[in-house]
Amino acid sequence: MSSIYEKYNLKQVINTSGRMTILGVSTPSPTVIDAVDYGLNHYFEMKDLVDKTGAYIARLLNAEDAVVVSCASAGIAQSVAAVIVRDNANLLVNLHSAPVNEPREIVLPRGHNVNFGAPVDTMVALGGGKVVEAGYANECSPQQLAACITPQTAAILYVKSHHCVQKSMLSVEQAAEVARQHNLPLIVDAAAEEDLTSYYQMGADLVIYSGAKAIEGPTSGLVLGKKQYVSWVKQQSGGIGRAMKVGKEGILGLTQAIESYLTQEKTSGAQMVERMSAFIANLNTLHGVSAQTVWDSAGRDIARAEITFDEAAIGISTSEMVQALKNGEIAIYFRGYKANEGKIEVDVRSVDEAQLMTVFTCIKHLLEKQA
Ligand SMILES: *Cc1c(COP(=O)(O)O)cnc(C)c1O
Repeated sequence: MSSIYEKYNLKQVINTSGRMTILGVSTPSPTVIDAVDYGLNHYFEMKDLVDKTGAYIARLLNAEDAVVVSCASAGIAQSVAAVIVRDNANLLVNLHSAPVNEPREIVLPRGHNVNFGAPVDTMVALGGGKVVEAGYANECSPQQLAACITPQTAAILYVKSHHCVQKSMLSVEQAAEVARQHNLPLIVDAAAEEDLTSYYQMGADLVIYSGAKAIEGPTSGLVLGKKQYVSWVKQQSGGIGRAMKVGKEGILGLTQAIESYLTQEKTSGAQMVERMSAFIANLNTLHGVSAQTVWDSAGRDIARAEITFDEAAIGISTSEMVQALKNGEIAIYFRGYKANEGKIEVDVRSVDEAQLMTVFTCIKHLLEKQA
């Protein structure tokens, strides 16, 4: 494998930042890789493959139907297109080339109109929709959401994500209730979420996931939901969906990844604590450095190592430290959300103990250079 790094002169990466699109998101298990391999090596009637894997996933997740797409962003664009186009055969192939008389406004809480690496509203526009923001940057109630609904509204969009403003925001259930009262579909973008069933059960008509994030599949996305809406999403493969086509390998890989995700035991927080205990002890021997176990702020069973630098003692700022470790011979990526407070976090899910030792050694050498 190192020959690929050599062949293209690629930089090696140690990823302690979690599921990051800029680093290639995740590394699927051998079972998923086998499914991808099988997909690459066989032919299928593609409609048959799409329909039957979708039905299989829907059974696993207790939804009416599902479809594998190329990524969550494609899922948003095609879901928006689906609720605007519906059964209009002409609009399907002319979404952006003809004036749209159908309702095309997508109402979303202003605090959900985020940039996840690309803006949510760019994906809505790709699907022929027009974002209408409800409420304020830091507040959206069911009443504020409902106040933006007009005859031009095609759907409500709810983004369930750590990227979004969390406080004073209505819940998915409340958004579903508003949608129901106005006879509108609710689309939930849950791209990075670990819960594959709740949002649908809370009343969403379409729920979107990213295949490579929590599910650890190949690059892909999942849209699950009510049968009619999923069938309109599938139909987009004859419209804008063609520009975001998913291959047979992605379809089979994600289907297997979902099954594995549901049935295989996950690394527990306690196991993560064990994996990083030597690493933390080593860090605590360094002058100006202290490390401890911290638990996920969103309440998930994830333990991380929090490293605090005494900037006066070590002679460089935490941000400079983070930058230097990225720029080293092996690029080391941390969770740097709190670098301005002198803290970084190490997520141990994507690294083994040997890599943690490398991280420790690199930090030690950097500090020695400052001294
Ligand atoms: C990652 C993410 C997306 C995009 O997912 P892709 O599969 O990379 O297209 C969309 N929405 C949110 C909230 C995300 O976190």
